[in-house]
Amino acid sequence: FAPIALAGSSPQERTFIMIKPDGVHRGLVADIIKRFEAKGYKLVGIKVLVPSKDLAGKHYAEHEGKPFYPGLVNFLSSGAVVAMVWEGKEVIKTGRTFIGATNPLASAPGTIRGDYGIDVGRNIIHGSDSVDSAQKEIALWFKPAELAEYELISKKWVYE
Ligand code: GDP
Ligand code: MG
Repeated sequence: FAPIALAGSSPQERTFIMIKPDGVHRGLVADIIKRFEAKGYKLVGIKVLVPSKDLAGKHYAEHEGKPFYPGLVNFLSSGAVVAMVWEGKEVIKTGRTFIGATNPLASAPGTIRGDYGIDVGRNIIHGSDSVDSAQKEIALWFKPAELAEYELISKKWVYE
C-alpha cells in the first residue's frame, strides 16, 4: 500500500485491526468500531471469519517457538474474528494507543484492553505495530479487491 497524498496533511496510513474471538463473544465489536470511527478514521475493509490454523499461525509467525504460540494459534482459530483495515493519519500508532498494553492488567483505563480485559491470552484485539507489519498483515488477511477505495465526506472536517 502506497501512502495516499493528502493536500496540506501527512500521508495517510493503513493498519490491520482484528477483534479476536473473545472480543466477538463478549459483544465488544460495536464498541471497538465506534472508537476508530468516532476518531475520524476511515474503514476500508471489514469481514467476519473463523481463521484457519494456517492463517492464524502465519499471522503470529513472529512468535513461533515461544511457549504461548500454540495456544495463541489455537485460540485465534477457535472462533469468529472481525478483521478490519482502518485508514488515516498515524492510524498505526493511534490504533496501538487505543488498544493499550499487551497485558490488559497493565493497560490504562480508557484503552480497549484496559477497559475490558484481564488475562494476556484473552486481550480482545490485535493491531499492527509498524508500517511494515501493517502492510504484511493487510496482505495476509485481505485481497486488494476487498479494500474499498473511496473518500469520506467528513475528510475536510477531520483534517485541516
Ligand atoms: P500485541 O502486539 O500487544 O498483541 O502483543 P505481542 O505481539 O507481544 O503478542 C501477540 C499476542 O500473543 C498477544 O496479544 C497475546 O494475546 C499473546 N501473548 C503475548 N505474550 C503472551 C504471554 O506471555 N502469555 C500468553 N498466554 N499469551 C501471550
Ligand atoms: Mg504484536
